[in-house]
Amino acid sequence: TKDDRIAKISSAIRVIPDFPKPGIMFQDITTLLLDPKAFKDSIDLFVERYKDQQISVVAGIEARGFIFGPPIALAIGAKFVPMRKPKKLPGEVISEEYSLEYGTDIMEMHVGAVEPGERALIIDDLIATGGTLCAAIRLLERVGVVVVECACLIELPELKGRDRLGDKPLFVLVSAD
Ligand code: AMP
Repeated sequence: TKDDRIAKISSAIRVIPDFPKPGIMFQDITTLLLDPKAFKDSIDLFVERYKDQQISVVAGIEARGFIFGPPIALAIGAKFVPMRKPKKLPGEVISEEYSLEYGTDIMEMHVGAVEPGERALIIDDLIATGGTLCAAIRLLERVGVVVVECACLIELPELKGRDRLGDKPLFVLVSAD
């Protein structure tokens, strides 16, 4: 069943305390990738949800959105668009600044990767404060793309990132508390 698959995915994700700094409980999805059945189940759960939603773009957030986004994109017949850290993409880019706990960061996407009116799904491994997903939503909406939903494997509900997304739907497989 769906719940059995989610339970196995949840137990395949390793939690490493105090990484990269004290107080952070790092949710490590690399151990999920070592379990081909659980890894495939995680992809399938997203594919089952999105296959009939006329999504033409899967936007994956660097770096771990690059692991989960492409297999989902291939399975639903959508293109994959990388949302990258600054100065990585070689072509002309559109950028969006966003705030972090200390300071700011920038997310970039290639100009011409998407067309106005396309329907996008945004993928990352985890939502914490929601700042990263908000930046990706803004970037895509600035170029006229319809963001259908954001999807992550893991949500840290205590950080209330979901509230920051406003009325934009968020789908997650696992809630970590
Ligand atoms: P946020 O913008 O606060 O929602 O942070 C989400 C981004 O930071 C995602 O790209 C995650 O990969 C990463 N991240 C934040 N907190 C964690 C955590 N506890 N474990 C693993 N990754 C995290």
